[in-house]
Amino acid sequence: MQTSDTAFDALVVGAGAGGLFAAARLARAGYRTLVVERLDKVGGRASTTEIDGFLVNDGAIVIEVGGITEETFAEVGAEFDIRTPKVPVLYRVGGKNLDVTRGGWGMLLSQLTRQGAKLLSGIGAARTNDDALPGSELSTAEWVGRYSKNAAVQGVFRNMCASVFAVGSEELPARVFLTYFTRKSAFKKFGFCPAGTIGVWQSLANSVIGNGGQVWLSSEVERLHLADGRVTGATVVRDGERVKVTCRVAVSDTGPAATVGLLGAENLPADYREQVAVKDRPCSMIALNFASRERLVDVPGMLLFSTSERLCYVANFTDTCPEMAPEGWNLYVAASVPKPSVGDFDADAEVELLRTDLREQIPGFDRARTLSVAVMRDGWPPQRAVAGYDLGHDTPIANLWNVGDGVKEYANGGTTACAETAKLVTEKILAEYPLTAAV
Ligand SMILES: Cc1cc2nc3c(=O)[nH]c(=O)nc-3n(C[C@H](O)[C@H](O)[C@H](O)COP(=O)(O)OP(=O)(O)OC[C@H]3O[C@@H](n4cnc5c(N)ncnc54)[C@H](O)[C@@H]3O)c2cc1C
Repeated sequence: MQTSDTAFDALVVGAGAGGLFAAARLARAGYRTLVVERLDKVGGRASTTEIDGFLVNDGAIVIEVGGITEETFAEVGAEFDIRTPKVPVLYRVGGKNLDVTRGGWGMLLSQLTRQGAKLLSGIGAARTNDDALPGSELSTAEWVGRYSKNAAVQGVFRNMCASVFAVGSEELPARVFLTYFTRKSAFKKFGFCPAGTIGVWQSLANSVIGNGGQVWLSSEVERLHLADGRVTGATVVRDGERVKVTCRVAVSDTGPAATVGLLGAENLPADYREQVAVKDRPCSMIALNFASRERLVDVPGMLLFSTSERLCYVANFTDTCPEMAPEGWNLYVAASVPKPSVGDFDADAEVELLRTDLREQIPGFDRARTLSVAVMRDGWPPQRAVAGYDLGHDTPIANLWNVGDGVKEYANGGTTACAETAKLVTEKILAEYPLTAAV
């Protein structure tokens, strides 16, 4: 039976970053919005799990400050509780931790190689001249190799690609790297959420509810219903019961491939299904959370490496957010991307390589307590599509869109990209399905 309890203007499948950014915007605009999330908590791949009093992030650790992310929180009236470290990133070069806040690329590259000036001019040219941006077939590693063969230079670029895009520099088009670092916000300013990253998504979920929407946790959309080429609603499994909901528009945060499954592949044109299959290129990342009473990493935020095998960064949470650990403890995370990061790899061997790097780079690591090791890949990846290879957010179904990191705008990544997809999709919904018009 259809009651007003199950009739919504907007249905959002998934309470990850993309879904909640979209839902918060829609609810704020007056759409009666339902968010359905399979897990028992919000945040998806950017959520947080409590382990023995430590707030351990499942995936995303830093949130960009300013730009589209903070702008969305302001627009929907949600609290943005992000604390920025004193120095966001330091670079481990020649055994020292280098602060390049003031000196930027020039300072970093000059410390790494005598060829720094040449590389710097390559980056400078890309900043101002479209013709200096390479074609998409050239990888970032190949582009860097045109200027320098130095292992530490290649290492820094690999670890930057890994940290932002969750792929190695050999897998990321140089055009994406240069576009991001010379023309986009490029995560210059970021911080940690003291509640763990889940805190920011909880804040967006609260805003959805505060604006008249609902968030159903531990509930799964089993099927999207179609009539006359439009989504009319969904079957949701909630508390073991099948509930039918109706909607005027739908947004999926489950990634394009899963969205096809929810619709039934037979309901979509073959060329779209083929595009989804081709662009379904999830990458992989390994996160190792560790804690110690000793201070093992003397940086206030993130430390990026130049000469590691796999370790791309270590982040220190507790200088900025001591409440993320029991009193007297330091909480850190180390991350790596495997080789290859797209396709199959030996997970055990890759975790061991990360540990070996940590023993080399972080004296005392062996005395630390490992809280968790997460190998993120396949259906639960760090990015659903390698940047530069994303599908568009439109679908062949007029009132259904995808959001999230499988449909990023060109050369964007992580939760910032999710905020951007949500904004673009919401603008389309407001323009094409205004609240006052009958659909
Ligand atoms: C180790 C690691 C570190 C990272 N670091 C950062 C970082 O520091 N900063 C940053 O910005 N990004 C980072 N990222 C990337 C970031 O986590 C992701 O880009 C982002 O969380 C993706 O969000 P999403 O909304 O696209 O998808 P998801 O988080 O996957 O959300 C989709 C949600 O849909 C739910 N769902 C799926 N199917 C259904 C269904 N049928 N019914 C109901 N619910 C369903 C899922 O349970 C999930 O919660 C990192 C990722 C990893 C793995």
